[in-house]
Amino acid sequence: MNRRQPIAFAAFLFVFAICTPFMRAQPTSYDLLIRNARIVDGSGSPWYRGDIGIRADRIAAIAASLTGTAARTVDARGQIVAPGFIDIHTHARRGVFDVPTADNYIRQGVTTLIEGPDGSSPLPIADFLARLASLPKSVNIGTFVGQGSIREAIVGSADRAATADERAKMRALVEQGMKDGAFGLSTGLFYVPGTFTPTEEVVDLAAVAGRFGGMHISHMRDEAAKVLDSVRETIAIGENGRLPTQITHHKIIGRPNWGRSVETLKLVDEARGRGVDATIDQYPYTASSTSIQSALLPAWALEGGRSRMLDRLRDAVTRGRIRTETIRLIDTERGGGDPRNVGIASCDFDRSLAGKNLAEIARLRSLPETLEGAADATLWIAEQGGCQGIFHAIAEEDLERILRHPATMIGSDGEVPIFGRAQPHPRSYGTFVRVLAVYVRERGILTMPDAIRRMTSFPAQRLGLHDRGLLRPGMKADIVIFDPATVRDAATYERPHQYAEGVGVVITNGQVVFADGAMTAARPGAVLYGPARRE
Ligand SMILES: [Zn+2]
Repeated sequence: MNRRQPIAFAAFLFVFAICTPFMRAQPTSYDLLIRNARIVDGSGSPWYRGDIGIRADRIAAIAASLTGTAARTVDARGQIVAPGFIDIHTHARRGVFDVPTADNYIRQGVTTLIEGPDGSSPLPIADFLARLASLPKSVNIGTFVGQGSIREAIVGSADRAATADERAKMRALVEQGMKDGAFGLSTGLFYVPGTFTPTEEVVDLAAVAGRFGGMHISHMRDEAAKVLDSVRETIAIGENGRLPTQITHHKIIGRPNWGRSVETLKLVDEARGRGVDATIDQYPYTASSTSIQSALLPAWALEGGRSRMLDRLRDAVTRGRIRTETIRLIDTERGGGDPRNVGIASCDFDRSLAGKNLAEIARLRSLPETLEGAADATLWIAEQGGCQGIFHAIAEEDLERILRHPATMIGSDGEVPIFGRAQPHPRSYGTFVRVLAVYVRERGILTMPDAIRRMTSFPAQRLGLHDRGLLRPGMKADIVIFDPATVRDAATYERPHQYAEGVGVVITNGQVVFADGAMTAARPGAVLYGPARRE
């Protein structure tokens, strides 16, 4: 990273501040002027009233009342004006090339999406970012580089430690990813092949990301029975790799484990107390979503790829062992103790299964609606090619406790759905506005300024996006205007394809991308680069 950059930027701001009054001989003109705003600036401070003047892609002025002309004026009518929300965990590459307006996110006020989570990213990310750069889009987008994808490329999906030579190759790929513009290294130690990685191998790779100013963000090895060990591991990766580390979509899965957020948060507090830069992100739902196979088959059954998995399922003895584990996973982990707690989000091999639960699929297969029948239905799904699932196995109490923690930011873990297709988790449509509606307005778990901080300046600071996430002169003009009395998520598990309500105007890089209930023709979204490639 160019270490002189912050100094140069400060000097620029200084000169800007000195010269600006003298340049105002003529009446000031803005490209866009927002009047009568109740400004929640993203810092966590309470709102104040003011006008915001935008020139090109930046905020030019904020004052109680701005005089001057503007090409376009938006009357906020006393509604909240906040920085555009930043989503640090998305699977936006599912869909963003089909729906580059990312309506589901923009209509929640989300203007920046970060990809490459859970250890999974395209490789090399340079090609992916170049494709995104040439895509006209409404949102800003950046990415992590995925440890799982790197390991897959060098070691495959074998259950073994990497050799010294393989580790050197993987370190080189992390370095390349950082130079290409990644924000850091993501891990998905729950998934194949991440789950086969010894902690110390992860530390080795994370340290490379850290040297280039990046962070580590982890879908942890286990969010159920071994969640405490996993939190310790995530902290150790940051502590030993000497870089910021983040527990992504923090949750406690499985009834026997509910309540353990007391201890996981204590571990985070202790780590922060001794100087480890450990943070958290979370979505506000008590159901998670991932593939049925990853969630309900043991990792060893998936080792070596699909054909090896099918071999194991054909062998009666091995199938029996897998089935026993699947029954346990439905009973005490992701399955939430009841086959009806597992829904199907989408299935490529049979789209008609979307929206059905595992008990219904068991019935369709003439199987009993018991744990055993559901396990057999699960193995059938794995054999057919797999489905994306929704798993109701999280307690509201843990959700709220994690949400209250000051080091927790908001991240959707969502994607860019094709409107109306399949039965995706509602988080893609509702995460940010659900926090504002349910956890701020209805339950008072968070104050409005604090909730907005967790969606704006906090993730911006985490990612080193020093020109976004706050409403201040000189910052990029990513802005959302919403009505705090009516903002809400409309998407439900039953009817997920419903846009957020109560958001009036969304601005990306100074241009209005959403107003009057519709997306505009503007496509001002930019690719955002991590610390090693920032100009
Ligand atoms: Zn994840």
